[in-house]
This record gives sequence, structure tokens and C-alpha cells, in this order.
Amino acid sequence: MTSTGPDTVHVRAPGKINVFLKVGAIDDTGYHDVAIAYQAVSLYEEVRVREASDFQVEVSGSVELSRVPRDGANIAIRAARLLAARTGYRGGAHIEIEKHVPVTGGMGGGSADAAATLLACDALWSTDLPREELLELARELGADVPFAFTGGTAIGTGRGDELSPALAQGTFHWVLALADFGLSTPAVYAELDEHRARHAQDIFPADPRPTVEANVLQALRAGDPHMLADAMHNDLQAAALHLEPSLSDVLELGEQSGALAGIVSGSGPTVAFLAADVDSALELQVALSAARLNVVRATGPVHGARIV
Ligand code: ATP
Repeated sequence: MTSTGPDTVHVRAPGKINVFLKVGAIDDTGYHDVAIAYQAVSLYEEVRVREASDFQVEVSGSVELSRVPRDGANIAIRAARLLAARTGYRGGAHIEIEKHVPVTGGMGGGSADAAATLLACDALWSTDLPREELLELARELGADVPFAFTGGTAIGTGRGDELSPALAQGTFHWVLALADFGLSTPAVYAELDEHRARHAQDIFPADPRPTVEANVLQALRAGDPHMLADAMHNDLQAAALHLEPSLSDVLELGEQSGALAGIVSGSGPTVAFLAADVDSALELQVALSAARLNVVRATGPVHGARIV
């Protein structure tokens, strides 16, 4: 069920793929600095808000929805409440989320919902916060929320939320293998920390301030999928594969079926395959579907959260 009409504000916000993710050494507070190259891709969350006396959320969409909270734990409600508290707005909002980004898939669907809700409520309530202040609220909601706002291609450092735009040209063609299970981001980080602690004698200590490697920036700037395929990297991938060994088979199958490269997106379990062009992406989609994987195609980069 969706609403349209003059009293409804509709915002579309994209999911993302981390084409590069390096995790720094754990600090005293238990956090890691990261270096991420984000690309927003054409899987969108559609968020529609209208006035209400309290805060409510309704969820529909094309992905498995059972893990999405329908109460105040939903990040869209947290976003609306945060904006209301910060601006002194007294009313509420009815929020409809139409989800197309896989839940707990490592593609930032919840972050997209949060960014969309901030933008939609700001317009609905005429609170008209400057973009910088909305970005500050986005940062408070989660490290990936500012990127869902800005979209395109960007480098994130610090917790991933200190963004700088990256020069990018052309369109990259992705085939995404969606899992029917989720992976918890904290569990994947914990697995990485354990692995690093176990092998402290044999591996180089992680850089406390990681950076995105130059060949990634060069590949994005050139719009060259072959170069990007060689440069993609995810420090969380081994940990995700350790927790879910079946993802190794998915990666292998994609690479045997014509993908230039495959990567676990963020903390997984979505696996993103980069294709050379639109025709190769179609062929890959057919091959993976024949192997009974749930696959979708997407292109990137695309714009960030926008009023429709
Ligand atoms: P990221 O890549 O940013 O780590 P993700 O894509 O792996 O995130 P999400 O789907 O964004 O994961 O968020 C999943 C978690 O957040 C689940 O534990 C879910 O219960 C909770 N959650 C709260 N609000 C939402 C929402 N609007 N949509 C999806 N999950 C939500």
C-alpha cells in the first residue's frame, strides 16, 4: 500500500557497494578506522512520509522483509525523531518504506532509509535545515548514512563517514547475488579481530589510519571495469567467508561464469560481481540464475537521496 498526494513527500535513496574496504587496527574504544570507496548503485529505497500525530512505519518491497523492525527500532523512525528533537518539531510522521535493497546485505539499505527519511521529513515539516546540518544528523544515525545522502562515488575515512567525492566517469555494470540469510556487521568485525589476534605473529599489523589505494582511484577516474576488477578489495571478506563458507562457492561460480571479479559487499552476505559491459552482465545474470541464485543487476554510480 502506498500513498501519493500533495501531503506526501516521496524520496528515493540508493543502496551502495563498497568497491574497496580496508579496516584499520582496533583502537582503545573498540572501534576501527576504515578506508572505503563507496559507489551508489541503482537499487533504490522509496520512502514516502506524511503528517501524523505520532511516529509510525509501514514496510513493503521486493526483498525479504522479516528482519525489518516495525517499531521505534526502525532506523527511519529514529531518523524522524532525531530531526524532530533537533528542530523542536512537535508532530510525528507516517513513514512508508518500499525496500529494494537486501536487508542485512551489506548494501546499506537501512542507511538509505535513514537518509531518505531525514530529507523527506525536513521537506514535509518545512524545517529546512541546511544540507550540512542534515549531514551531521545523518552521521549521528550511522557511519553509512551520510553516503546515502550524497551518493555517486566517494571515499569515506574515519568511521567511513568523513566523505570526500571521488572523480569517476562512465557506468559500471554489477550483478548482485543476494543471500537468503543476513550477516551481522558487528559479528563480521569480531571475526576479523579474532583472526588478527590469532595470527598477530604472522601478519603485518593493520595500519591504524588506512587509506584507499591509488589504483582504485585511478580505475574509478578512468571508468575502466578491468582496472577496477584488479583493484577491488575488502578486508572483511575473509571474515564473512569464514562465517558463511557457502559464499566462496558463489564467488567461484560468478568468476567462472564471466565476471571480471567478485567481492563480498561490506560485511556481506551480498556478493557483487563486476561485469565488463551490459551484455556480459546479462549473460552473467542468466548463468547465476540458472544455478538457482537470487541475482539482480544494477549500475553505478547513481545519485544520492532525492525528492521525487
Ligand atoms: P551496512 O551495509 O550499512 O552495514 P546492511 O545493509 O548490512 O548495512 P541494513 O539492512 O541496512 O544492513 O540494516 C540491517 C539491520 O538494521 C537489521 O538488524 C535490522 O533489523 C535493522 N534495521 C533497522 N531499521 C531498518 C530498516 N529501515 N531497514 C532494514 N533494516 C533495518
